[in-house]
Amino acid sequence: MFRHSDFVILSSFVIRASSFLLLIFLPALRAAEKVSILGSKPKWSVLEHYQETITRDEFAHLINDVYCTHGFAPDLIEINEKTARILLNRETQKCFTLRFAENDASRRPVPRLWRPAESLPRAKPERPLSGLRIALDPGHLGGKWAKMEERWLHVGDGAPVQEGDLTLGVARLLAPRLRKLGARVFFIRSSNEPVTAKRPDDFQELARKILIKNGVPQPRVDVLDPNDPEKEQTIRWQSEILFYRYSEIRRRAALVNFKLHPDLVLCLHFNAEGWGDPNSPTLLDTNHLHLLVNGSYLQDELEFDDERFEMVRRLLSRAYDEELPLADMVAKAMAKETQLPPYEYPTTLTTTKVGTSGYVYARNLLATRIYRCPVVYCEPYVMNSNDVFARIQAGDYEGMRNVNGVERKSIFSEYADSVADGLADYYSKARGL
Ligand SMILES: [Zn+2]
Repeated sequence: MFRHSDFVILSSFVIRASSFLLLIFLPALRAAEKVSILGSKPKWSVLEHYQETITRDEFAHLINDVYCTHGFAPDLIEINEKTARILLNRETQKCFTLRFAENDASRRPVPRLWRPAESLPRAKPERPLSGLRIALDPGHLGGKWAKMEERWLHVGDGAPVQEGDLTLGVARLLAPRLRKLGARVFFIRSSNEPVTAKRPDDFQELARKILIKNGVPQPRVDVLDPNDPEKEQTIRWQSEILFYRYSEIRRRAALVNFKLHPDLVLCLHFNAEGWGDPNSPTLLDTNHLHLLVNGSYLQDELEFDDERFEMVRRLLSRAYDEELPLADMVAKAMAKETQLPPYEYPTTLTTTKVGTSGYVYARNLLATRIYRCPVVYCEPYVMNSNDVFARIQAGDYEGMRNVNGVERKSIFSEYADSVADGLADYYSKARGL
């Protein structure tokens, strides 16, 4: 059965409680392979390309301190002196054997399509991002989808706040700043329409199966009203989340991995605290900033064959070596410009603080896991804080203006400027400019 209350406490706004319901309580739909929601069968043979590209010490460090910080069942990953054995599938008990490089000098090069800063061609100091391919991923959809996504709030006579529209606005300001610094910039989403061609109705059958498997033998079709306490047990609600989260992010990943081939993806979001009724949301004084990189897999997530495979592939691609210092540098620039304190998760059960800035956490989100390149996921500003709410209502503007008693940039320019500054800092340093 659903145990909603258990998860409300654990989850932050980044991924709502509901997504955990699907992941954790969905037993595999196919018995032989245990594959996560809308996931595909892992292609373990591609890991052959990573033989002897990593030493035992590096592998053990990444497993213990980044990816599997919450532990794992001992039969899933076994680290020996010269090899690691990774279980493909409980049913067949087959394993993939990774051979370690003996030492740093004998490490074979890591095969990958994205380029770390150090392998980019020479650049001029005023164009620290030259040659870099950056894909911008404005989080969520916005527009007519914002209410369905539960990324919509409305106060009095003000315009509704829709996260998907805010993130697209930031991406549009950020792109020219990054191009000026020399980058080639791509939009993973450039309007408030989905990238996926699927719609909620396409997932009704799957939603019904998921609910039945989770102990709702006769799921209701529709939600009664937005405050329906059992809405998460309806086919409507489940098919919508399958559409706007799982199908949408997996389509975005296909775009990233097979078409755009960026060196870096920036996921742009605005954070929030629980706001209650979206038509009469709670406004608070709390405001904060944090960034996420992939890691910190839960034991239950590692039980899925595709998630375990994607984790190992990501580890071996060494995306972390690039995304962590990058996230730290962007975090520092954002902290300096926004003056926001670091967000502290109320629990350490889902995230692990990493890096040196105090603002970066490892967490296993779908986007940070399946985009096959370094991914920096930005979560500044609590949309339902009094100050941020006032700044969003003020919209974008040139220069400085007095908003909520303080003279400052628009919140959108501040976001875009600080991300661009952080990237310029990182690539200038890493390329020795
Ligand atoms: Zn978001």
